[in-house]
Amino acid sequence: MSRIAYVNGRYVPHRAARVHIEDRGFQFADAVYEVIAIEDGVFVDEALHLGRLHRSLDALRLRAPMSDAALRVVLGEVVRRNGVDEGIVYLQVTRGTAPRDFAFPAAARPGVVVTARRKRLAEPKLIAEGVRVITIPDIRWGRPDIKSVSLLPNALGKQQAKESGAFEAWLVDRDGNVTEGTSSNAWIVTAAGEVVTRHADRAILEGVTRTGLRHVMASQQLRLSERPFTVAEAKAASEAFLTSASNFIIPVIAIDKTAIGDGRPGLRTRRLIEAYAAYAAGGGQDAP
Ligand code: PLP
Repeated sequence: MSRIAYVNGRYVPHRAARVHIEDRGFQFADAVYEVIAIEDGVFVDEALHLGRLHRSLDALRLRAPMSDAALRVVLGEVVRRNGVDEGIVYLQVTRGTAPRDFAFPAAARPGVVVTARRKRLAEPKLIAEGVRVITIPDIRWGRPDIKSVSLLPNALGKQQAKESGAFEAWLVDRDGNVTEGTSSNAWIVTAAGEVVTRHADRAILEGVTRTGLRHVMASQQLRLSERPFTVAEAKAASEAFLTSASNFIIPVIAIDKTAIGDGRPGLRTRRLIEAYAAYAAGGGQDAP
């Protein structure tokens, strides 16, 4: 089946999908995006993703391109046309196309691109073996809580991780605290059994998977501490893991050269992976 993309009102073959050279997403990263998981043909937490999309749009004073109902139809149609049963759908909204000028154009129609692809979400090998992360300085701009396509530091960090044989880079702020990963939220389980992830302030993207897992934990009366944690605390943790819509939950077995716990995926993490899998299979909080 050949891939189909949605670009500014039309469904087009993926290989022929184009935007204009003066699209402000291309020129200035003047655009926001979402990545939503699809499991068994069902969106996982679509409403939470659309809610975050609106927060990103509002923060950048971008206009919504269409109603949420229409957006849901387009997302569903792209998923259907690409035959994606398990995978991810990508949505980008830009400020539109206008002669190159930093100031906003007086009138430009928002640009919209939607693509979808098949992908194994909870990859058994990653879950069974866990992954390594490295730590690097967080050099991003002051608003990583907005899901903008301004992702150069994230791309550089991920490449550095890859070249170090790691899966992800955890970003460290000036106070020595881990903020999050380049494309995931960072979590630890302390030796005392406390599950910790950074509180959602302007320093991190409030992941939808993070929100989903919070919900799962709350429904099981499991305590979560949302607070800063240092690299040293993370290295001394008994377990660590990361969360994202495209991989759900992956155990972290080493940070830099330090093994976490006994260097294998931890029991608490494995239980959370199972609980989250059940939650996601029902569509998350959108579950009927
Ligand atoms: N943090 C960053 C910087 C990300 O790019 C992502 C996902 O792309 C996340 C966290 C996880 O967010 P979500 O769970 O919504 O995928």
